[in-house]
Amino acid sequence: EYKGMSKERMMEIRRQNCNPMTMKVTYYKKPVFIHQGYMQWLWDVDGRRYLDLFAGVATVSVGHCHPKVTAAAEQQLKRLWHTTNIYVYPPLHEYCEKLASYLPDPLKVIYLTNSGSEANDLAMLMARLHTGNFDIITFRGSYHGGSPQTMGLTSNAAYKYPIANGLGCTNTMCPDVFRGPWGGSHCRDSPVQTIRECGCAQGHCMANEHYIGQLKETFATSVPSQIAAFFGEPIQGVGGAVQYPKNYLKEAYKLVRERGGVCIADEVQTGFGRTGTHFWGFQGHDVIPDMVTMAKGIGNGFPMGAVVTTPEIAASFAKGVHFNTFGGNPVACAVASSVLDVIREDGAQQISLDVGTYLMTELAKLRDKYEIIGDVRGKGLQIGVEMVKDKVSRDPLPPQAMSEIFEDIKDMGVLIGKGGVYGQTFRIKPPMCITMEDADFFLAVFNKSIQSYMERT
Ligand code: PMP
Repeated sequence: EYKGMSKERMMEIRRQNCNPMTMKVTYYKKPVFIHQGYMQWLWDVDGRRYLDLFAGVATVSVGHCHPKVTAAAEQQLKRLWHTTNIYVYPPLHEYCEKLASYLPDPLKVIYLTNSGSEANDLAMLMARLHTGNFDIITFRGSYHGGSPQTMGLTSNAAYKYPIANGLGCTNTMCPDVFRGPWGGSHCRDSPVQTIRECGCAQGHCMANEHYIGQLKETFATSVPSQIAAFFGEPIQGVGGAVQYPKNYLKEAYKLVRERGGVCIADEVQTGFGRTGTHFWGFQGHDVIPDMVTMAKGIGNGFPMGAVVTTPEIAASFAKGVHFNTFGGNPVACAVASSVLDVIREDGAQQISLDVGTYLMTELAKLRDKYEIIGDVRGKGLQIGVEMVKDKVSRDPLPPQAMSEIFEDIKDMGVLIGKGGVYGQTFRIKPPMCITMEDADFFLAVFNKSIQSYMERT
């Protein structure tokens, strides 16, 4: 039972003493006051239970307060909280050895950080030092961080400030086969296809050719002939689980490397088994990046991040000294180490594949039933449901309507996320411990909320 600060007092403090941004995106008209979590469940201060299908933005990878991860943290907390990484201490080395075993050659050198922004900041610096070039390319609609440097990589106006941010960053067209001008069924790697017909013929994707053409145009117009890096998420997270045509990343990586750049996969949301078919999202694109950045799910909610790169890039970076007080903190390493074990022991990746595929297949049936569900996409438990005014125009469903449905879903006991450049996409990225029953519960709730919305309007 909750006996802490009153809801009214918390809201007062939030107004007076907290980052006001949190007020803007409180998301719900009636805020949710979370007190406790266990696995896929959250409880509010009134003892009401919610099924958490957002997991703190794909961060709680194996479940809130997972008993094994909690025990690992507890044990390390009693032994050693912190020491500088000038000294050699076991948790960091045990973790680096374990994490490296999950990555293909030559991705074997690990730098530990405390967040995703920090990991991407570091990756930008390393790419520039290694290549001797400055310009970096990312997709429109992406989110790669909120620090002044990474804000340049991020390409969603809601998260940009009117200052010079991330100099040398160019945002290119996102090859979105649903909202973009080209693409459609069978273009992307998802268990469900789009409602759009595409010009694909005999496995040759015309959409891909067009989008790669746009990237070539960016090379011809907006950046020098030699570039430092290309950043891309295997599936866009904040952008709304946006997927690219098959082979796009493969061709893009080739073009980037021809121009002296390194290829960076931002696995902050897609890593650690979330896409179901693979442990890393990039493996679903049949590419091997030069650098992989990760955070969120790496620590099941414990603050942590990492950059993994090749010995060659690490050697260029070793010309200077890189220091980070908390990067590789013993407690963070013990937690992250246990997260890797639990992903394997609990079969989290398989759950992602099975429950995620089931969810998308069933959601696609709702898409075919309702005019305002435009697209269902994703892989594993990285799912987007894009809402539209109608299927012909594909105009985004306006924010007011999105909020009504969102609020209704919450009132029925399920928490999901919102995203997309126009805030038009519901995002489903639960802890990877949900069950088929949870999926059925959500499907019933989602169906009901859309049905009531349609009846009201
Ligand atoms: N990359 C991606 C893909 C993300 O989704 C985020 C956070 N939403 C970040 C980087 C930044 O991570 P952090 O908030 O830990 O700095």
